[in-house]
Amino acid sequence: MAFEIRTTGDALAVYHTETPAIAGPLERLGTPGGDLDIARTRYWIDIGARTAAAADARLRAEAPEVFTALESAEAPDFAEYEADDFADAEQGEPGRKTRAGEPPAGLERLLRYHRVDYDTFAPHEARFFEGLRDLLALHGVVSADEQLGPDSFGEAVEAFQSKKGLSTDGLPGRDTLWAMQRDWAADRELGTVRVPADKWGDAYDRFTLREDVAELYEGLYADIQRRGGQITSAGSFRSLSATVSKGRSKTSIHYAGVALDLAPYSGLARIREGDPYIVERDPAGRGWRVWCRSGAATEVQIGPQTWKGKLCDGPETTCGAFDLSEIFRQHGFADIGPRRGYEKTYSCLEWWHFQCEAVLVPFVSQFGAELLSLDRYDEAFLKKTPAWAYHRSVFKSRNRGWH
Ligand SMILES: [Zn+2]
Repeated sequence: MAFEIRTTGDALAVYHTETPAIAGPLERLGTPGGDLDIARTRYWIDIGARTAAAADARLRAEAPEVFTALESAEAPDFAEYEADDFADAEQGEPGRKTRAGEPPAGLERLLRYHRVDYDTFAPHEARFFEGLRDLLALHGVVSADEQLGPDSFGEAVEAFQSKKGLSTDGLPGRDTLWAMQRDWAADRELGTVRVPADKWGDAYDRFTLREDVAELYEGLYADIQRRGGQITSAGSFRSLSATVSKGRSKTSIHYAGVALDLAPYSGLARIREGDPYIVERDPAGRGWRVWCRSGAATEVQIGPQTWKGKLCDGPETTCGAFDLSEIFRQHGFADIGPRRGYEKTYSCLEWWHFQCEAVLVPFVSQFGAELLSLDRYDEAFLKKTPAWAYHRSVFKSRNRGWH
């Protein structure tokens, strides 16, 4: 059985990974071994439990099904993770590195190529193999229901490479992936759709997303409205002629209509009662947690960040609010953490940025393929834009990749 544990504020929820809309950055549970105990440790940190026993008691009460599955799997070694994870969680340093686990045989070369450790890759492993399989199936190299894994993908990739006259190293790197998905992307012809946001100051009340992303956004927006919250907007779709500045990535997925920005001053900049969001460092140390104020939500105590010419601690705040970051995650949208220099440059904070990772495949999706997927762009046009220099960049890769 495949499921995920997610926490919303203080509550616990379990999701089935078969529902692609909620496939996100959290770890899968149910596979004995590496990613199982990491997931369990993260869960433990997420709910603020200080001991494994406390976490287990809560898990047993709130998700007995998961608890039973964990018990029947290999016993995780909590001691191994405790020191590292808590040290980072307490510092709350966004963008922390995870401790490298041992990758299954067959994956070492791929991980080396992408310059990521297995702990970084593991949460995406199932989606990576499915996404790779789908592309290979499109080229008739494997069947659409073939299960690819660490032992088998190299051979399938090699078959594709030899069919296309590429050098046969069995590694789905930038050039091989591009050969696999260029035509597929050009044929997608995805449109863009205007979607609603809430009026706040001079922020937008509508913005534009790619049609498949807009569909997920509609569900997200309805959910947030139901909870008495709001979505402010600083826009989403970005013109390919927009200038690249410090807080603007050259490989921004905004160019493909896959990301949205909340209004950057609707949270963190100051902490006022009327403002929609309060931002704190993610207790698991991976970026930000954005709280959305709502009269309908339970009161929570928040230790927020604020801005006084630089990032600093704000006054402890108690108010009705729900964990907006978590709701975004549940609908397939992920945050990205701050960019370098964020302590002193507001535009690098990126607490407002959410991208729809449910429509992307880690270590497969390429920046140029996402641009080419839009009906408004063709390759001849894109080749003339500065963004095209990054068209082979692979999603989540640290080897000239994009995040
Ligand atoms: Zn953004």
